[in-house]
Amino acid sequence: MSTSTLVWFRQDLRLRDNPALTYASERGTVIPLYIFDTACPENFVPGGASKWWLHKSLGRLNDSLDNQLHCAKGDASKIIIELIQQHNIKQVVWNRAYEPWQIKRDTLLKQTLVEAGIDVQSFNSHLLWEPWQVLKKDETPYKVFTPYYRRGCLSKPSPRMPVDTPHNLQVEYIPQLDKGLDSLALMPDINWYSTMQEMWTPGEQGAAKHLSEFLPNGAEEYKNKRDFPDLGATSKLSPHLHFGEISPNQIWYAAIHALNGNTEDVGLDCYLSELGWREFSHSLLFHFPHIPQKNFSPKFEHFPWRSDDKSLKAWQLGQTGIPIVDAGMRELWQTGTMHNRVRMVVGSFLVKNLLIDWRKGERWFWDCLLDADLAANSASWQWIAGTGADAAPYFRIFNPVTQGQRFDPQGDYVKRFCPELAKMPDKYIHNPWDAPQNILDYAGVKLGKNYPEPLVDLKASRLRALDALAQSKQQPEEITGKV
Ligand code: FAD
Repeated sequence: MSTSTLVWFRQDLRLRDNPALTYASERGTVIPLYIFDTACPENFVPGGASKWWLHKSLGRLNDSLDNQLHCAKGDASKIIIELIQQHNIKQVVWNRAYEPWQIKRDTLLKQTLVEAGIDVQSFNSHLLWEPWQVLKKDETPYKVFTPYYRRGCLSKPSPRMPVDTPHNLQVEYIPQLDKGLDSLALMPDINWYSTMQEMWTPGEQGAAKHLSEFLPNGAEEYKNKRDFPDLGATSKLSPHLHFGEISPNQIWYAAIHALNGNTEDVGLDCYLSELGWREFSHSLLFHFPHIPQKNFSPKFEHFPWRSDDKSLKAWQLGQTGIPIVDAGMRELWQTGTMHNRVRMVVGSFLVKNLLIDWRKGERWFWDCLLDADLAANSASWQWIAGTGADAAPYFRIFNPVTQGQRFDPQGDYVKRFCPELAKMPDKYIHNPWDAPQNILDYAGVKLGKNYPEPLVDLKASRLRALDALAQSKQQPEEITGKV
């Protein structure tokens, strides 16, 4: 009989503040295992950018474990059951994962193992508060962020304090169990990831570095600068958080500590509440597991989305002729990320100005984002489309020109990703179609030749969206730069 504990790594690719690993290491030797689960439903298989990140992150975890991480690919439940039988393992631990299919899989597996006399323990390492702990007085889930966070989360006991890396971690390495990282086939055949490689350092050390660089310079300024895509004022921790290379608890307490515990600080409050949005997304996905596929609000079930593959393609490639939309979509393609403000603008443009179903945008983000996260992505897309819980009402339509003028006033962000507009003066950088011919000539911009004509007229497409909306009997309102 093996006295080692099987530690099943999932979205917790770190040694520090890893409750399952700590628990196991206190009981003796551990068998660390990662399985790329091929039983994952097709829709939820990680996209290309995520797979690249996962490969790198597992590589770093393997380094930290002195090359003793076991990697396997296949039906995770079957692999674990076989392994336990073959090696007579009596203890299994993991940190909880929250996608609906993962919950189903883990519940079933736990039941099977417990029935077979195995000691199975699961822990929370991914969220500050468990989704089933934060409920309204009537025990139903919150659907609106502010009461969820302020009344729900903040009235609960403070989040768990982080724990340190286990001392003297003893690993049992079983060569026949380890198929090697490359056997997971996560890396793409074509090298489209070189820019990402330059920009990002997946893994626990990369996450800790990002946090330590952000906190002294960023948290205080965060509130004022976070909406400006060219200022780099946000923490850039989302892919690290998604893969669990850092826990929200580590960030929560490090942020409080960096501001000497001054919880009245508006920058700190604002930053912590963004972690609150992450919790809220997970709570929505937990209580309403259909949100990745179905409109939260059933009245959108028959909404007249347009089928327009040409426009969808132009949006995906950053060729819509609307500069801030194109800059955002090109940023996504080139770097695997996009600034939050711009995510909202490109999302609104797709679902409202182009009237294309939010699920097509969600899928594209899923494939291209390094931080693609089922909870955050589906909740945010539904928010933007106005179909979700606590959603921007459908009749709110971001105006990409005024949003650009407000949050990228000199067009620095647009010029970075749309170099063909580099010489456009500030006045026309977000609306080159309004520029007089002599200005276009001076800037070397030939609309329809070296930069596209706008795919749609913003005013007309807004009215078209409002017409479609009239079928849902709601009232119009436009977001200019003020929100
Ligand atoms: P910071 O501003 O530094 O925030 C700190 C952390 O808080 C983030 O790392 C993230 O974990 C969390 N957070 C911040 N804003 C949100 C939010 N609105 N919802 C949920 N969590 C948030 N975020 C993802 O992690 N994965 C996604 O797949 C994803 N898809 C999105 C799709 C759309 C259409 C929109 C509008 C937003 C999406 N977001 C997603 C939320 C947000 O854009 C990113 O979390 C943020 O841009 C990450 O940058 P950061 O780490 O610098 O964030």
